[in-house]
Amino acid sequence: MRNLITGGAGFIGSHLAEFLLARGEEVIVWDDLSTGRMSNLSRCLGQPGFRYIIGDITKDPSFESVVSNVDVVYHLAAAVGVQLVVHDPVRTIETNIVGTEVALRATAKFGKRIFVASTSEVYGKGTKIPFSEEDDVLYGPTSKRRWNYAISKAVDEFLLLAYHESHALPGVVGRLFNTVGPRQVPFYGMVIPRFISQARANEPLTVYGDGSQSRCFGHVLDVIPAMHALVHSDAAMGQVVNLGSDEEITVLRLAERIRDRVGSSSEIRFVPYDVAYRPGFEDMQRRVPDVSKAHRLIGFRPTRTLDDVITDILADPGT
Ligand code: UDP
Repeated sequence: MRNLITGGAGFIGSHLAEFLLARGEEVIVWDDLSTGRMSNLSRCLGQPGFRYIIGDITKDPSFESVVSNVDVVYHLAAAVGVQLVVHDPVRTIETNIVGTEVALRATAKFGKRIFVASTSEVYGKGTKIPFSEEDDVLYGPTSKRRWNYAISKAVDEFLLLAYHESHALPGVVGRLFNTVGPRQVPFYGMVIPRFISQARANEPLTVYGDGSQSRCFGHVLDVIPAMHALVHSDAAMGQVVNLGSDEEITVLRLAERIRDRVGSSSEIRFVPYDVAYRPGFEDMQRRVPDVSKAHRLIGFRPTRTLDDVITDILADPGT
């Protein structure tokens, strides 16, 4: 089986590349290294069946011919992290929408299977817990930058569903909920790597708002096999599927837990959202996935706890 992973030098993409290579499959990583890093691929480089292309899929005319030579495309290239989304809205919208259009058009042309990574951000500020794929979504006004990410990823989902219906594209959308694990970097705002690096440096742990907001953190090693199973499932074609953990924790408890696990003397510092992001920033209070659809389709059940994730991150020399 030959696979193309766009965004394959990123945190999730590089774990996926390792998973596929370990199965004996071939992998081409395509990444513009805007947020991905070659060091993420250190375990892949030199392995038989692995190669990479550095560049932008929207600007390289050879993209189509590469797609024509693989069996499966995992489209993970996207703008990542709330910090980036808030500070570079043009890049966020264009990367998400133009890149996905290019990936879908090429895969549809050659009838290849495609997995498109979406996000729990698509649920916006919905309050019905847990979030289920057919729930209504609720966004803030377009003047609030955060929502551009949610809406651009929702457009990606519409695009895939439209290609599936109109061009018989065999594709599936995975809505990823706060996926974490070794190698995720703190630079784009993700809370767990930030708290770990702050705790290790005995610097204050920056809890935004009052810390009562909660999240569910899914281990990347639980999510990767599910992505693989979904893209190979005929029943999953044309579907949108939640992937993540349903173990919920508040951000304040998370900060305390990480500080204890690191054995750090860091204080906890509460930072108003307006200071952390921009004036008028809106956060989601809770975000819990209903993963019963993934369970029905592919038998998905997360097996790793938040403590397992923290243990694995702390043990990783590269994080
Ligand atoms: N957060 C925080 N301190 C940080 C970074 C993030 O309190 O240094 C909060 C953030 O406001 C959100 C949660 O942690 O409520 C998860 O943030 P992240 O950016 O990891 O993912 P999100 O769920 O916002 O996409």
